Amino acid sequence: MMKVGKKASSVMLAAVLTASSLYGVPVQFVQSAEAAQSQAENPGSKSFDQKVIARVDAARMMEDVRYLSETIGPRVAGTEAEKEAANFIRKRLESYGYTVETQEFSIPDKMAGGLHTSDLKEVLVTIPSGSGSTPEEGITSELYDAGLGRAADFSEEASGKIALISRGDIPFSEKVSNAVNAGAAGVLIYNNVDQPAPMNPSIGGPYTIPVGSITKASGEALLQDIAAQNKTVTLTVKRFQNIKSQNIIAIKNPKPNKDGETDIVHISAHFDSVPFAPGASDNASGTAVALELARVLKSYPADKELRFAFVGAEEIGLLGSKHYVSQLSGNEVERSIANFNMDMVGTAWENATAIYMNTLDGQANIATETALATAERIGTPSELVLYQRGASDHVSFHDAGIPAVNFIRREPVTANLEPYYHTPLDSIDHISAERMKEAGDLIGASVYSLIRK
Ligand SMILES: [Zn+2]
Repeated sequence: MMKVGKKASSVMLAAVLTASSLYGVPVQFVQSAEAAQSQAENPGSKSFDQKVIARVDAARMMEDVRYLSETIGPRVAGTEAEKEAANFIRKRLESYGYTVETQEFSIPDKMAGGLHTSDLKEVLVTIPSGSGSTPEEGITSELYDAGLGRAADFSEEASGKIALISRGDIPFSEKVSNAVNAGAAGVLIYNNVDQPAPMNPSIGGPYTIPVGSITKASGEALLQDIAAQNKTVTLTVKRFQNIKSQNIIAIKNPKPNKDGETDIVHISAHFDSVPFAPGASDNASGTAVALELARVLKSYPADKELRFAFVGAEEIGLLGSKHYVSQLSGNEVERSIANFNMDMVGTAWENATAIYMNTLDGQANIATETALATAERIGTPSELVLYQRGASDHVSFHDAGIPAVNFIRREPVTANLEPYYHTPLDSIDHISAERMKEAGDLIGASVYSLIRK
């Protein structure tokens, strides 16, 4: 799931208004919800549910979470690891007999870098956008302890050194500007809160000098061992340009004579992660469920078209799903009746007892109504909660006027996410096979109930 700031929510609101005024979503939704209701009352539906549930295999999904989060590991947008994940998904879908499309798209330039001490210790560093870059070999310099980075914290001594600045008190942009004015050769900002990975601060800019972000523990260690003893550090920052990410798409065609004229249901899940996070919950979990549904649903004839969109670059602004939706023709958008998006569906965090159904407007739609009816039929153990929230790929579908929902595990009432979210602790140790199965059964049976007639 993508982190959302204030800016994004106002954009979201605008999107809601546009979608409902342009596409008349509510009307379409009411008719479809009635259809879903009549299905729920049809006892025949139960045997169809069982066709799905009997085949959704928790062990296979856990294996896929393990492969994505451990064998591959963090899958940051635009990296080789993200591409490796895409190839893994592609090959798997092909093994199920799908014709698979890889859809490449550009993502913005990125700064990346490294930091090590003169005694060759690696220090985890995040390079915020707005940082300057360095020569290939980096810059090597003594550290200057610049406290909180206020103007008064810099003396002439700072000139030509890398300023080590604590988070707090004044904005990051002011800290960096003060360092630039003092003639510093670079800036390292350390957290004032203990977190396992460096934060990604908004520093403004662009600046001419390189800026890195490190953890509180790293900052304190550098202060003691390096700054105090006048040792040096080397900071390397490189700008990466013309970076590509990719979506992997597979289509399950409807019964032969219906090709090109039926409704379309989209299942989506992002496979990228944030830096330093194995991304087991976010979102190897949703990816593994979608892969399993691609396997299970492949052999069952259906009257509607089913599309699987495995998307990249979600964490840097839903770029993959935006691109995917932008490539649909007007006719395809019109035929699209629902998007079932999965993001963080398998956490073992004990408080996350509810399956949240996030929609942009907080309103029910054909996807949420179908899921509710299905949960009732199959006896889904977890409570389903309809909730107003963007911050995942369902936003892109909603913005095109396609009724969309994101399934995500949260703590009831508080809506809290698991504490491992976006950290190095988002590992398979915190994934529940039972909850993966629950998600697979619920979403698989829901989608099947929609596409089979
Ligand atoms: Zn995320």
